[in-house]
Amino acid sequence: MQGSMLKGKTALITGSTSGIGLGIAKTFAERGANIVLNGFGDPKEIETIQADIKSKHGVETAYHSADMSKASEIEQMMQFAAQRFGAVDILVNNAGIQHVANIEDFPVEKWDAVIAINLTSAFHTTRLALPAMKSRNWGRIINIASVHGLVGSAQKSAYVAAKHGLVGLTKVTALETAQTGVTCNAICPGWVLTPLVQKQVDARATQNGVSNEEAKKQLLAEKQPSGEFVTPEQLGELAAFLSSDAASQVRGVAWNMDGGWVAQ
Ligand code: NAD
Repeated sequence: MQGSMLKGKTALITGSTSGIGLGIAKTFAERGANIVLNGFGDPKEIETIQADIKSKHGVETAYHSADMSKASEIEQMMQFAAQRFGAVDILVNNAGIQHVANIEDFPVEKWDAVIAINLTSAFHTTRLALPAMKSRNWGRIINIASVHGLVGSAQKSAYVAAKHGLVGLTKVTALETAQTGVTCNAICPGWVLTPLVQKQVDARATQNGVSNEEAKKQLLAEKQPSGEFVTPEQLGELAAFLSSDAASQVRGVAWNMDGGWVAQ
């Protein structure tokens, strides 16, 4: 039953060539959904990812290289997905970047890029996906925010602002669709060991003159009481639940999966 829960549906996941987005794409494919991948990366590796998903799960896949900081490319991606599969049933706004610096040293172009990719792109995909979802009276919009959509951390002004904004956009989208079969929710992960976080581990290892393993332990000890990373697979399972019929009355939540980070 679980294996075919999303059969015939199409899921578009932004930033799904790596990390959490790829984990969610694989979980949806496991449930039978056709997958539209997006994100940067080596074309050969992206072809391999597509071939793996197809052969393991017998679903259709497509890939669009739209840059999430560019509205015109997002429009092309949404048109491409609709032409290829008829419609996008499940939209996961996941693409994101990080930049770490004090506010007075924060490069203006980095601020603009973080806000564009982590927040504004979700406005564009959502506005473009909603008409078809509403007309079919079924849809799922899942915004991958962060614990930083709920609490702050020093040196992450743009990221924390973008993720709080994404939680706000989630609530408004949920209210505007409240009497339809379309739901919108946010997932707020704590530390997940992806390339985005590995960069922060590397920076800490260099700065503190410690090993990679020690830097990971320090990172977790500071914020995440469980002392363990959340995994993309676990986040995929939560996204699959939010896409299920059982979750049809879960609307506008910002659901943290964070090893206890926000409980403190
Ligand atoms: P990642 O670096 O592994 O993956 C990011 C993905 O986004 C990649 O596929 C990349 O190609 C894509 N991407 C980046 N810029 C893009 C652009 N301009 N246009 C299109 N695609 C672009 O990172 P991740 O950790 O998997 O992060 C995924 C999401 O999860 C992000 O929104 C991030 O903020 C969020 N998140 C991550 C963590 C964590 O600990 N890793 C915690 C909370 C939230």
